[in-house]
Amino acid sequence: MKAFDLKSIVRQNIWELQAYSSARSEFDLYSSDKSDLTLLDANENPESEQQLNRYPDPLQSDLKEALAQQKGLSVDQIFVGNGSDEAIDLLYRIFCRPGKDKVLICPPTYGMYEVSAGINDIEVLRVPLKEDFSLNDEEIVKRCQQDQDSIKILWICSPNNPTGNSLLKADLKHDWQAENYTKAGIMDVAFAPEFEQELLDNQQRLDRLFGNFHGIIVVDEAYQDFTEHKSFIHRLADYPNLVVLQTMSKAQGLAGARVGFAFASPEIIQLFNKSKPPYNVNELSQKAALKALSNIKTTQEAVKQLIDNRKWLSQELAQFDLVKKVYPSEANFVLAEVEQATNLYNYLKEQGIIIRNRSSQIPNSLRFTVGTQPECKAVIKAMREFQSAQQQNINQ
Ligand SMILES: *Cc1c(COP(=O)(O)O)cnc(C)c1O
Repeated sequence: MKAFDLKSIVRQNIWELQAYSSARSEFDLYSSDKSDLTLLDANENPESEQQLNRYPDPLQSDLKEALAQQKGLSVDQIFVGNGSDEAIDLLYRIFCRPGKDKVLICPPTYGMYEVSAGINDIEVLRVPLKEDFSLNDEEIVKRCQQDQDSIKILWICSPNNPTGNSLLKADLKHDWQAENYTKAGIMDVAFAPEFEQELLDNQQRLDRLFGNFHGIIVVDEAYQDFTEHKSFIHRLADYPNLVVLQTMSKAQGLAGARVGFAFASPEIIQLFNKSKPPYNVNELSQKAALKALSNIKTTQEAVKQLIDNRKWLSQELAQFDLVKKVYPSEANFVLAEVEQATNLYNYLKEQGIIIRNRSSQIPNSLRFTVGTQPECKAVIKAMREFQSAQQQNINQ
């Protein structure tokens, strides 16, 4: 494996940038009790009766501390953004020189990698997923080697949006153990020797993909809470060029608060911190995020319910004649290949049910977000109506 040299891939202006500094952050006043301080440094309005008359903590210390504890990381490995979409944009601004550098994506995948590339004037190279929606490792490694000085970021979304499957496994041993531990914490299956080979193969695969690449590998884990596989945050120590994205918009139910995370080495996080707008996460959102983190149980119960609903929705979808395939999902949505996808999409829209038509990316495909039980039932009911109307048309 080549040694990873962070400085060589960071834009020079960012490497040399002096971060905006406020008096409060210089003296670390955010982490101390401010109630007996006279704060005359930031031109706020102390006469105001608003709850929000003070600037928020630019480094979100309380939130990061809670998160660090939950994730088993240190505070300096965490960036908090105005949604993980902010982290995506910052990655471009930190690493990619407009008009010069490139990134690699594996479509069909999340649209913002490309939109953000467009905004930042960065060329996008594509190595499409294979027929079965798995990564084309060979081709990725080949393209990265061909263009090794200009490809700065490899975007991998896992579980992938919109296909719903995991593209990479961080740690098979953990996955295997989680699957085979009984509730009493006893391994109920003997460790299979042939599994050693699988472990080794997976490790070699990751080394090949990550270790031979000069640039940054982003694993976007927006749907991590809905899969059984272990998170890549546990591999940060192994791969200094790894950035893992997560968000509070999906499982934690805070899409309206806009709170997302990047986890990486302290050196990379420093670059995020100095490139971001100083007060990028507002006070209300920091508080809401902290509160949601302290209610892990509520989130876990919601996730469990959504996974049940996902199973139900997938089974129901599979019953329809016009549904050709329901893809297995490790996320809170289900992708299906459907005859007359666009007609069905429009019909549902007329009934006030909005799903996502993904037919431009994957022919005849619709993506259904997993809703509440009544919502799942409503979409199935409307689809039955659509189907019987179609059959009547044929019979006429
Ligand atoms: C929803 C989504 C995000 C965006 O998350 P925000 O934190 O809401 O900005 C990022 N990546 C993927 C793959 C997503 O589906």
